[in-house]
Amino acid sequence: MRIANINGRAALALDGGFLDIAEASDGRFPSSVTALLEHLEALSIWAAQFGEATLGAEELDALASDERLGPVIERPRQIFAIGLNYRLHAAEMGLANPDAPMVFTKFASSLAGQHALVPVVSQATDWEAELVVVIGQEANGVSVDDALRVVAGYCVGQDISDRALQMKGSPAQFSLGKSWRNFSPIGPWLTTADEVVNPNNLSIRCDISGHRFQDSTTEDMVFTVAEIVSYLSGVVTLYPGDVIFTGSPVGVGQGQHPQRFLVPGDTITTSIEGLGTLYCTMVEPS
Ligand code: ZN
Repeated sequence: MRIANINGRAALALDGGFLDIAEASDGRFPSSVTALLEHLEALSIWAAQFGEATLGAEELDALASDERLGPVIERPRQIFAIGLNYRLHAAEMGLANPDAPMVFTKFASSLAGQHALVPVVSQATDWEAELVVVIGQEANGVSVDDALRVVAGYCVGQDISDRALQMKGSPAQFSLGKSWRNFSPIGPWLTTADEVVNPNNLSIRCDISGHRFQDSTTEDMVFTVAEIVSYLSGVVTLYPGDVIFTGSPVGVGQGQHPQRFLVPGDTITTSIEGLGTLYCTMVEPS
């Protein structure tokens, strides 16, 4: 299933448009995506009548252009992000692969949806295409083998980064420089985990104003999705709706020669195999 946030309400992506789940089910299912996460099995059985599994690339493109698409999850209890989690990206940043997942947060007020307008806040505003995990059930100390069972689904994300603020100070602290308004777009919708055989075998791409800068695969992750979920749940309790940005592959602006940062008017087109395409546009700060 593909579950979208349309004007704050959960909707099923179908050939021809979005179906409001609470309305179409006469209130059997809740109207928020987060509340739905605990009912995915029943929802899947109910949704089978609409035949949404037959959606092709063209239909998905048409759906992804909908201006109403909001962030897949609007108010997660927690957002985690993992730094330097692709081998070739760590190398382009001139750093070694971390020995343990490098964890920071993107504050929740930075979340945005499809077609986000993202302010260029400094001359070192950078892109990072990322696979985003949405947790489906409360989890504590889950093993690597069981970790994917607590994942509700996946979406496409951008970990927009103000490198100036991110690297300011010693030691550097990542969270604030990655949390300006609209710096965390996620979308276009949640693709449920049953549709994703292996989250570490997906192509991931990012085009800036039509030029491809990132073209990689989630196979290059230092720590797999299962390892990240297991690691986090060993320390904190994960809750339904929690969001995890799993790191960005090689090809960010800072890694270019010369470096290439975002300017107002740039478009960011981020795609992950099977999960859709996320569109953002860079604007002057207001
Ligand atoms: Zn990142």
